[in-house]
Amino acid sequence: MPTETFEFQVEARQLLQLMIHSVYSNKDVFLRELVSNASDALDKLRLEKLRDDSLDADVSDLHIEIDVDKEARTLTVRDNGIGMSYDEVGRLIGTIANSGTATFLKELREAKDAAGAEGLIGQFGVGFYSGFMVADEVTLVTRRAGESQGTRWTSRGEATYTLQTADDAPQGTSVTLHLKPADPENQLHDYTSPWQIREIVKRYSDFITWPIRMVPETGDGDGDSDTPAEPETLNSMKALWARSRDEVSDDEYHELYKHISHDWREPLETIRLQAEGTFEYQALLFVPSHAPHDLFTRDFKRGVQLYVKRVFIMDDCEALLPPYLRFVKGVVDAADLSLNVSREILQQDRHIRMMQRRLTKKVLSTVKEFMTKDRDRYGTFWREFGTVLKEGLVTDSENRDAILAASSFATTHSDDEPTTLAQYVERMKDGQEDIYYITGESRQSIQNSPHMEAFRDKGIEVLLLTDAVDEVWVDAVGEYEGKRLRSVAKGEIDLDAKGDEDADEEREKQAEEYAGLLGWMGEQLDEDIKEVRLSTRLTVSAACVVSDAHDLTPALENMYRAMGQEVPRTKRILELNPGHPLVKGLNQAYKEREDRTELAESVELLHTLAVLAEGGQSKDPARFVKLVADRLERTL
Ligand code: ADP
Repeated sequence: MPTETFEFQVEARQLLQLMIHSVYSNKDVFLRELVSNASDALDKLRLEKLRDDSLDADVSDLHIEIDVDKEARTLTVRDNGIGMSYDEVGRLIGTIANSGTATFLKELREAKDAAGAEGLIGQFGVGFYSGFMVADEVTLVTRRAGESQGTRWTSRGEATYTLQTADDAPQGTSVTLHLKPADPENQLHDYTSPWQIREIVKRYSDFITWPIRMVPETGDGDGDSDTPAEPETLNSMKALWARSRDEVSDDEYHELYKHISHDWREPLETIRLQAEGTFEYQALLFVPSHAPHDLFTRDFKRGVQLYVKRVFIMDDCEALLPPYLRFVKGVVDAADLSLNVSREILQQDRHIRMMQRRLTKKVLSTVKEFMTKDRDRYGTFWREFGTVLKEGLVTDSENRDAILAASSFATTHSDDEPTTLAQYVERMKDGQEDIYYITGESRQSIQNSPHMEAFRDKGIEVLLLTDAVDEVWVDAVGEYEGKRLRSVAKGEIDLDAKGDEDADEEREKQAEEYAGLLGWMGEQLDEDIKEVRLSTRLTVSAACVVSDAHDLTPALENMYRAMGQEVPRTKRILELNPGHPLVKGLNQAYKEREDRTELAESVELLHTLAVLAEGGQSKDPARFVKLVADRLERTL
């Protein structure tokens, strides 16, 4: 087959440009990326051979090899792993499939200044392409295990790459970087120097479980006289999770995190866990410091890596952590599982379920520890992952208390410090029996909602819940330490002290006074409203709409509809403030006038205003605008 030339996909080209103009200040990491790919390729081959013994592949000495040629200024990273077919090379190397990377590029284009761009770049692993930070030409030769024909890929990192078949390719992949000319100013980054390679591998790839060997150059003239003549293994290959805590530095843990997460930033926390006894396992979990872009998308890959006795079994093992901890990365190494274990079996395995319970509790107690010991860290955690964690309040009743204890909420008590439920309860006023909250789109819109008036007046604290999931968990949880969780926008709210006879008497009088108007308004608004009643929660506004205690809120209704569920429209309740001049005026007009056409319009307007005030929308905006404009005109 002749050499074919192809164009890079647009995103791939952009990424290459970034690499060539070297946006990333620490170029050494290109080696980590190539070694990481090689290690994955060895894992894949071992697994494939395990599943299919007839695969014609040599697995007797799986390893990674690094060769340096000072004269030719090349560096080669070679593995004898799974390799790639001709088609795979075109598909995997010529394009960017990773959705995170695509998002990253989009943000990068939108970043206004260089500093912003610089900040973004450090966040993404760019894998294979990072070779172009240090090389002006890259050649990849590969042969898929079990196939006879190999493939050669080359590119200078410009618009195109070439593909041709290679008859002599050994099993696996070799990536040869033709290094850019040496920078005399910067001897620190001489990638033809064996001791520098040794250093970089030690620093970034020591934990790789395959041997990383370096073959000394014959007669390399770098004065490295003690270089052994035999291939030298550069890494210790010790699985970090199997070593004791004091043997492993934080940096080493962080490099493992970067290897498995493709996140270039440090994790927020490293969690170690060991279980001995009948079902033995070790786990090393990481809480990232930033939520990934696709955390809330359907195809988000969740789960940790599963090993069985140091042998890599699978990525993204979902069975080990519940969906609401899907941001947690890490490794779990179990001693007593079959190497052939499948995802389906894992989902049903009793031991796996026990592990899941233990890992879950451990992560939750870690979050709780942030909260009590390190407010900054907790703040970061909650900002990035609080929304996800709260899903657990709905789905994991067993751990509900632990999740609640680790959760915090915005509150009217403070503009910037969130509160825990325990702290809220401590501050409750004498005689206050319930924990009050309000849900909505943003702090600003709900803080000024009419539903809050009486609470503000009486200095009663209200939790301000603005995540979509809040609508759901408050219902699922229902109460905290015997105190009901109550929405200020639902049901009847009576904040007056019980048995206040003056207040009771006043209310009876008002009820009589307004009985006619309320009934008539109910008829007028029958389509949207199931009841019109007098309110005890308003002090400033004339009216507000509320939901019945057990009805769906409008936000929840919308949510169910968005998920494709049929829900009947719930009628709501209109509450009037009997002390408000507008309401008094309406009542008077109702009693005095024979022709109530105009009054009916006023009632319609009042209802729409109440809907708008809580952040809702008018059913018929054009009609609403016309009614208001007509009235304005009359006031001129
Ligand atoms: P990532 O590793 O993040 O997926 P890369 O650009 O580094 O992105 O690699 C793209 C894909 O190319 C890998 O997912 C893998 O399928 C394939 N690949 C890269 N290097 C190797 C290798 N040494 N052996 C086999 N496949 C490889």
